[in-house]
Amino acid sequence: MAQVAIANVAKAFGTVKVLHEVSVDIADGQFVVLVGPSGCGKSTLLRMVAGLETVSGGTISIGDRIVNNLPPAKRDIAMVFQNYALYPHKTVEQNMAFALKLRGTDQAVVAERVKRAANILDLNPYLKRYPRQLSGGQRQRVAMGRAIVRNPQVFLFDEPLSNLDAKLRVQMRTEIKELHQRLKTTTIYVTHDQIEAMTMADKIVVMRDGRIEQVGAPLELFDRPANLFVAGFIGSPA
Ligand code: ADP
Ligand code: MG
Repeated sequence: MAQVAIANVAKAFGTVKVLHEVSVDIADGQFVVLVGPSGCGKSTLLRMVAGLETVSGGTISIGDRIVNNLPPAKRDIAMVFQNYALYPHKTVEQNMAFALKLRGTDQAVVAERVKRAANILDLNPYLKRYPRQLSGGQRQRVAMGRAIVRNPQVFLFDEPLSNLDAKLRVQMRTEIKELHQRLKTTTIYVTHDQIEAMTMADKIVVMRDGRIEQVGAPLELFDRPANLFVAGFIGSPA
């Protein structure tokens, strides 16, 4: 059974259809990248999985539950955004602990989870610092730490690296992949950068204008693009 099943999911804002019956299955532990030009509907689809947008048609399941009508807090997912707003007046440690505390998690469990996340992300030297005292890459790691401490079934990333400079972006790609190899958490990762998609994905979903053009492993898409759009998109330099 797929860990996340997106079945004939459609989305309209008013009368404007932005997603047309898209279907994707994401297996347990898989790292799936949604890629496509700006405006094609990637964020909207991800936000529907997160429960931040309503679904206009079709079903989204996580595990064995249809989650269409579940609020975000009940979906067992954690999302890392493009603009990962950290709380400026909280330390790194407090930023990571906050979401758990809000949910009434036991203090000892919170401390244990924060410690584990700090170890995984090499954040131990920075736990008492404030966001303004961190580099861009360190801030990004804190944002990931806030997701990790929740121990979710599914990670959702929406262009998490697009605010970083090119060098750091390449480094963080590797870190996110290493994190995935270590935790094996099912991941849906959105980017408009085809190089990012090719280097990170187990499976790539190429989107255009609210539709899926092709789904496949990176090399499959590279060797056998389904059409000229996919060939052009995957084959062009970043
Ligand atoms: P992407 O993430 O691929 O750049 P989006 O999912 O953000 O694309 O947007 C897909 C389409 O839906 C775009 O045409 C965008 O303008 C439109 N859209 C997104 N959010 C809204 C909204 N809240 N209201 C109306 N239109 C929206
Ligand atoms: Mg987007």
